[in-house]
Amino acid sequence: MNPSREVVRAEVLVGPDGRIQALVPPGGPLPSGARCIDAAGRVMIPGLIQAHLHLCQTLFRGLAEERTLLAWLRERIWPLEAAHDASSLGASARLGIAELLRSGTTTILDMGTVHHTDALFMAAEQSGIRYTGGQALMDRGVGVPRGLLQTTDEALAESDRLRETWDGRADGRLRYAYTPRFILSCSEPLLRAVAARAHAGARVHTHAAEQREEVAAVRAELGRGDIELFDDIGLLGPWLTLAHAVWPNEDDLERLVRGGTHVTHCPASNLKLGSGLAPIRELLDRGVNVALGADGAACSNRLDGWSQLWLAGLVASVRDGPGALDARALFELATLGGARALGLEGNVGSIEPGKRADLVILDLAGWEPNGDVYTALVYSARADDVCTVLVDGRVVVQDRRLLTLDESAVRTEATAQRDALLTRAGLDTRAQTAR
Ligand SMILES: [Zn+2]
Repeated sequence: MNPSREVVRAEVLVGPDGRIQALVPPGGPLPSGARCIDAAGRVMIPGLIQAHLHLCQTLFRGLAEERTLLAWLRERIWPLEAAHDASSLGASARLGIAELLRSGTTTILDMGTVHHTDALFMAAEQSGIRYTGGQALMDRGVGVPRGLLQTTDEALAESDRLRETWDGRADGRLRYAYTPRFILSCSEPLLRAVAARAHAGARVHTHAAEQREEVAAVRAELGRGDIELFDDIGLLGPWLTLAHAVWPNEDDLERLVRGGTHVTHCPASNLKLGSGLAPIRELLDRGVNVALGADGAACSNRLDGWSQLWLAGLVASVRDGPGALDARALFELATLGGARALGLEGNVGSIEPGKRADLVILDLAGWEPNGDVYTALVYSARADDVCTVLVDGRVVVQDRRLLTLDESAVRTEATAQRDALLTRAGLDTRAQTAR
């Protein structure tokens, strides 16, 4: 993956600074003392980038089934999030990150819950993943548990402190984004304060226009749509990544283009929650940058980027016809599109000298004979095909094994923390845990 979408045979040289130094012909001269990773017969790609995740929900996998968005939030997700403590949140993040790194996602944009956000950053720092995240901002909303409600000032002060503490840590691998959850949980003063910070250089991540029922609730309450309100208060801009945008109207599409706002397509979540088929072809045709994301394990159940790529291709075929998005365009959503959505296009998203060495090596032999390599990556590749993963030139997955976290310990801890969390939440999810 490079700006001209070439497929090349080359040795990729990585410098001690964790950046790609050069691509040289196969068998070309290597610096003496260089450590070599044999990738003969394999495919190297830039690490996948997912620009919408909720690591705080990994412990809720399978516990919030068979609901539409607002019921899913009010009956399951918010009560479960309110029951998190720092230990369960850290366990949830480590479980999600283990799945992501092992399947070749090296960069993510994450939405935290309201409290204990430091635990997410600590898990990201320890695991080696490239992480941009933030505390979910919630200062109002129907059905929001008391444990998740903050005053406007509390919410902003906590986010400012987190940004001060974490933004730029781990050699720039960790970054902060202000994260208003969605318009029905955020007051206008809160959104205006976030917009002011965005104009002064902050990044912003939120949800918009996800489900028809939600869009109708927003209009009934505010007299205008969420994207329209974001436009009115100056929140739209190249600093903003909107998850979903399944139901933007014509005016919204124009607003997104004008603002240079990014959209994250979450096909698994949109299908499972019955949200709809997002207008990705229209967004791209108008010049809106689009990224991909798994959303959370509580609504898409798998976090790997391969499932999202595959579904994005199938959804585009159903909505706009086969070929509406070819495999190269799809692969770009999960690489350069994600990098742009995070403001990281100068650092990640392609294999080019000067960029960070976030690299993934796959063994696609199980899919041969196959055609074009991009087609194989989008429509055949699966999480288990990933052999080796590097972030900043550091090997974090080797021979399909995660080196930065003990996966079996992560799983054991996650199960114990999930059980304790359910007790604290006092929710009757037995019907679903027993299945
Ligand atoms: Zn989401």
